[in-house]
Amino acid sequence: MNWEPWTGCSPYSEGCKYCYYYGPYSKRYGQNVVVKTDKFDWPIRKNARGELCIKGGKTVATCFATDFFIPEADEWRKEAWDMIRQRQDLDFLILTKRIDRFMESLPEDWGDGFDNVNLGCTVETQEIADYRLPLFLSYPIKRRFIACGPLLERIDLSQYLHGVDHVTVGGETGREARVCDYEWVLDIREQCQRAGKTFWFKETGSRFKRDGVVYKVNPYKQHSMAKECGISFG
Ligand code: SF4
Repeated sequence: MNWEPWTGCSPYSEGCKYCYYYGPYSKRYGQNVVVKTDKFDWPIRKNARGELCIKGGKTVATCFATDFFIPEADEWRKEAWDMIRQRQDLDFLILTKRIDRFMESLPEDWGDGFDNVNLGCTVETQEIADYRLPLFLSYPIKRRFIACGPLLERIDLSQYLHGVDHVTVGGETGREARVCDYEWVLDIREQCQRAGKTFWFKETGSRFKRDGVVYKVNPYKQHSMAKECGISFG
């Protein structure tokens, strides 16, 4: 289940260049305008019968059309943390390209992390991985994973894998999408196997290179095509 407390974004790194969400939302709201959505309070909202709209026991993934740590949301985020704190019965999955804003974005009672927050740091290239992941690993977070997306080149994650539970990999989506090479995906998979970490090949992206051939993949087939490769584990 997704929760989009705010929406709108601005490019922050190499992987944002052809961002699917940045495009459509920039058209709808004006470029770089970050706005609260009408689902802002969704985790604590109740229906007419007085029941919580989101039943307990679910995983709630946030901010797919924005970034949880975007500066424009600094004030709203305090309320968002509050809602996350109240819903200990939900598992919140937060994915970010702005991990370097993490420490200044925390609630006062964060301590060594909330049990119900699983934080994912996105990396797209080796340079970005070497900048973000040492920061990511140095922060107080109870549950961490790495999301290679969009994967733009071969990345060596081996020195960082000890500190995370899981790695996901995906290619870039869109008309201008850059190629995702299956060899790079397999390479990360092997690193995860060696380190004993779980691995999920989430999507191929729109331009997927395998055995020297670049395939144009329809957005609706990118997940199933990755699944058909049969290389995810854990
Ligand atoms: S941070 Fe995420 S949502 Fe924002 S522009 Fe970059 S890829 Fe898009």
